[in-house]
Order: sequence, then C-alpha cells, then structure tokens
Amino acid sequence: MENCIFCKIIKGEIPCSKVYEDDKVLAFNDINPEAPVHVLIVPKTHVRSIMDLNEDGYLLISHVFKVASKLAKDLNIDEKGFRVVNNIGENGGQTVPHIHFHLLGGRLLQWPPG
Ligand code: IMP
Repeated sequence: MENCIFCKIIKGEIPCSKVYEDDKVLAFNDINPEAPVHVLIVPKTHVRSIMDLNEDGYLLISHVFKVASKLAKDLNIDEKGFRVVNNIGENGGQTVPHIHFHLLGGRLLQWPPG
C-alpha cells in the first residue's frame, strides 16, 4: 500500500533492523523499544488488522505465532517468558494500520496493560 510505513520497510524503501525474514513475514526491532527485546513481526501482505483477514490470512497468523516461538528461542526470552501483542484500532492502541505483532521480553512485564 502506497503510504504505509510497514509496506515501505517490507519493500526496502525505509531501512529497518531486520531480525528475521521469510516469504510471508518480516521481523525487525521496534524503533521505540518498550522492553530489552521488542521485535515487530509483520505479515508482508497489507491488511489493516485481524478484522480484515480472509481464510489465507488466518493461516498467515498461525505462521506469525510459529515465527514468534522461533524468535523467542533465538533471542533467549523463551525460558523466563515473554508476550506477543496485537493492538487493534484506536482504542486498542494501534498506531500503524498494517497488521503486526509485538514480541516483547527480557524483563518482567506488568499486567494489566495501561
Ligand atoms: P502499534 O502502536 O501497535 O501500531 O505499533 C506500532 C509500532 O511500530 C510502535 O511500537 C512503533 O514504535 C513502531 N514503529 C513505527 N515506525 C517504525 C519504524 O520505522 N521502524 C521500526 N518500528 C517502528
């Protein structure tokens, strides 16, 4: 999508600190990290949120969680625990309208969130 920052990162038009890539997703470090590990896992297809997924999209989200599990191991946050977060819409705190999942870890995460 033309003016989408994550589409531009995926196309290589804006640089990122890449952590992982395959044919379906790109994962990179969040520019404003909220934890020692804060990676964004971003499907390459432009979809605004889970509210716009089709059947293939649901399979893609399953792949996102497979990648999250692999990255948690690779980044050594799997043993103490971590969080995968998907913000949706204005009240959900979504600021970039391209579906993405935050992988957060490396410190004790509070609950409930603000
Ligand atoms: P959201 O608030 O759930 O939509 O998450 C968007 C995230 O994207 C925020 O945590 C931002 O810090 C992050 N972000 C925005 N622009 C960039 C960028 O250019 N590179 C890496 N992360 C970004």
